[in-house]
Amino acid sequence: VACVEIRAAGKTYSSARGPVVALADVSMDVAEGEFFSLLGPSGCGKSTLLKCIAGLEGTSTGAIRVRGQGLAGPPKGLGMVFQRDVLLDWRTILENVLITAEFQGLPKAEMTVRARALLERFGLGAFQDRHPWELSGGMRQRASICRALLCEPEILLMDEPFGALDAMTRDDLNVELTRIWQSARRTVVFVTHSIAEAVFLSDRVAMMSPGPGRIVEIVPIDLPRP
Ligand code: ADP
Ligand code: ADP
Repeated sequence: VACVEIRAAGKTYSSARGPVVALADVSMDVAEGEFFSLLGPSGCGKSTLLKCIAGLEGTSTGAIRVRGQGLAGPPKGLGMVFQRDVLLDWRTILENVLITAEFQGLPKAEMTVRARALLERFGLGAFQDRHPWELSGGMRQRASICRALLCEPEILLMDEPFGALDAMTRDDLNVELTRIWQSARRTVVFVTHSIAEAVFLSDRVAMMSPGPGRIVEIVPIDLPRP
């Protein structure tokens, strides 16, 4: 079953220097429970495509449906992780993880129990009452993932979440992410410019061309997971 359906999606930004084509013509499906990566060089439109799936940008042409619904703003049941963490420095890690639950008005006591369990699972149990600036880059990104997962999103969108980290931390987090994904099987759309990362993590990889916004090929990956 398709979770995300993209049909002839195009996106042109208007800028001071005139129109910028970010997506030319993209069609693809992401299946329910699939780990799907968008791979391509800088500027090929990966982030734009992810933002369109998230409903943060509208497409200029074509259509995107998430779980059968057309998009008019961010759909429900969506978690997002960005390259740079968006943790608030004046809140503790636990309070940061709870932000989305607060926005949605979910019961605090119950969500706090869940947040603590998630932080524990990501090796941040001892850090939940610390502040973001007391943590390493890798730990901050783990906290960002906890925040995105707290409300049990059906779809997790990740935009180069480990791009700002060193290679070893990145490898560790990739292994962790694979384990989490295997135990929960959410639909994941993952943006990266690293072939190794895409191959390691994904069921399928969409390769985008260096020119503006096209998918050249969608490749199934059939490797044993760790
Ligand atoms: P990637 O994530 O693959 O690096 P992006 O989706 O960020 O690619 O960008 C695709 C193209 O769209 C680039 O040429 C970029 O400069 C342009 N672009 C992205 N966002 C904007 C914007 N808000 N306004 C104008 N141009 C943009
Ligand atoms: P990095 O992102 O710096 O490469 P990681 O996020 O992988 O590091 O963290 C490695 C380990 O180092 C953590 O599990 C933690 O035990 C320890 N650590 C990192 N930063 C701190 C800190 N500010 N205080 C205490 N321990 C820390």
